Amino acid sequence: MPELPEVETVARQLKEQVLGREVRGLQVLDERLSHLRQSHSLLLGARIQDSRRVGKQVALSLACRDGRQRWLLVHLRMTGRLLLVEEASPARTRCRLELDEGALCFADSRRFGTMVVVEEEAALEPPGLDPLDQGCTPNRLKEMAASCAAPLKSWLLDQHRITGLGNIYACEILHAAALSPHRPASSVTLEEWRRLHRHMRRILVKAIELCGTTFSDFQDSRGVEGSFGALLEVYRRQALPCNRCGGTVVRETQAQRGTYWCPGCQG
Ligand SMILES: [Zn+2]
Repeated sequence: MPELPEVETVARQLKEQVLGREVRGLQVLDERLSHLRQSHSLLLGARIQDSRRVGKQVALSLACRDGRQRWLLVHLRMTGRLLLVEEASPARTRCRLELDEGALCFADSRRFGTMVVVEEEAALEPPGLDPLDQGCTPNRLKEMAASCAAPLKSWLLDQHRITGLGNIYACEILHAAALSPHRPASSVTLEEWRRLHRHMRRILVKAIELCGTTFSDFQDSRGVEGSFGALLEVYRRQALPCNRCGGTVVRETQAQRGTYWCPGCQG
């Protein structure tokens, strides 16, 4: 599933590719997205002004012909991809936005992704704190976790607290910060939050640089896979030696998700 770095990658690439382009047509190919047909006339003639990440979604800002600004908000979920094509749509395209040059296709084999037209900018606010936002500080994290006894990893994955982290990066961040995924969130000291915060930013920024991590489905807007996978320390490395302490990386099921960690050096 695309996490923050993958969505950021797609949003940044689209910004380079579609900025200033005009929407010439809309083809809805999946009935689950039939609500978009209502926005057909609003989208026609709109110019794409910006593309940015909002939480785990891509938001395309549109200057519409009626003088209003609207946003096309796309959640990639499990297998969604936004691809700019010259001609034919890729397989599993659910929606195709015809542009004055090329077309933007939303391909999504499992069809969990969503695409909506939003009228108000306030609707773009992610539900939780963005880990790369200035407002996300070690003090703020400690404060937010103060009364929460949930395991640290589950705490990090709760999108209403931190928006954008998924299983891969949560495992990697906890390993880098040498913190056990089982620690109650409220027991983490300010010093430990500082460590976690530092590694969280470092890992996310690095992953964005490398266009994310690809395991099964993620491809960026050019159809290219991300290359952060080569830098993973624990994710899908169960039974292999830990690069830091030589202990053995284990895989456990925690809240129905695979948790990868090293009991040797994550305390
Ligand atoms: Zn270790």
